[in-house]
Amino acid sequence: MVKMRDWVEEINERARTKLGIGRVADYIPALAERDANKFGIAICTNEGEIYAAGDALEPFSIQSISKVFLLTLSLRVYGNALWERVGLNPSGMPFNSLTQLEAERGKPRNPFINAGAIVVADRLVSAFATPSKHLQDVARKLSGNESILIDRRVLESEWQHRSRNAAMAYLMKAFDNIDNDVDHVLHSYFSCCSLSMSCIDLAIALNYLAADGHAHATGEPFIAPDLARRINSIMVTSGMYDAAGDFAYRVGLPAKSGVGGGIVAIVPGKFSVCAWSPALDENGNSVAAQYALELLASEMDARLGR
Ligand code: GLN
Repeated sequence: MVKMRDWVEEINERARTKLGIGRVADYIPALAERDANKFGIAICTNEGEIYAAGDALEPFSIQSISKVFLLTLSLRVYGNALWERVGLNPSGMPFNSLTQLEAERGKPRNPFINAGAIVVADRLVSAFATPSKHLQDVARKLSGNESILIDRRVLESEWQHRSRNAAMAYLMKAFDNIDNDVDHVLHSYFSCCSLSMSCIDLAIALNYLAADGHAHATGEPFIAPDLARRINSIMVTSGMYDAAGDFAYRVGLPAKSGVGGGIVAIVPGKFSVCAWSPALDENGNSVAAQYALELLASEMDARLGR
């Protein structure tokens, strides 16, 4: 589709005007080395067409986008019992905040803040011998890219600077909301965050959320349509941390961001999209990627027809 190709190219050019705004995450030192002048975007339609521009083939650290995979895999194993361990509401706090955990007896507000994802990782440690290997295999299958790797440098860097996440995990352990060894759970969580994937990999891999749970690369159902709808809902309310409300107003699509600069967004029934650029705003969301998704959402009906 020529008009789609031109449009994605145009978004790439316009989003690049935002390069230079924001800061590359440096609390994980290995992430600070990324070139802030990178920008990529990729769309995977439910028919399986890929439209990509800029640095869409370059792998980056998926970071919190892995929380979508963690949640999906955990819901597949535990179903609604998962919600006894983690809540479903926006936190209104930064993604690495500890303040609500004490008052709420170790039950994190939702699975897309760090504390919530650590609880979900603990559930997966109970279910699988090597959860991060399992998640890597799933990411490979869903994207059709067998070369996806865990970036050992990023993993080591996260491990060295784990104090805050470790504090959350120990507090939750004290409230009996972590069953397994804390170091083991943290290591699994960091390994998932340290997966390296490109915009194209992520757009393809998460297309099941746009396609009623059907995985594009395997051609098979991955999750039930109802579950895909529910995960999209949690992405709307909590996928962009405490900026979820602003993003919902500006873009209005289910989305999940990571401090590696990636954001995946879903247009249910139509396509999945991933935009990436390393420089972040004060909430930890990529400035240029958010802008690209804002352009995409506001022009979608006019450019593609309803
Ligand atoms: N691995 C990061 C952390 O735990 C993920 C944070 C993010 O992408 N928001 O701090």
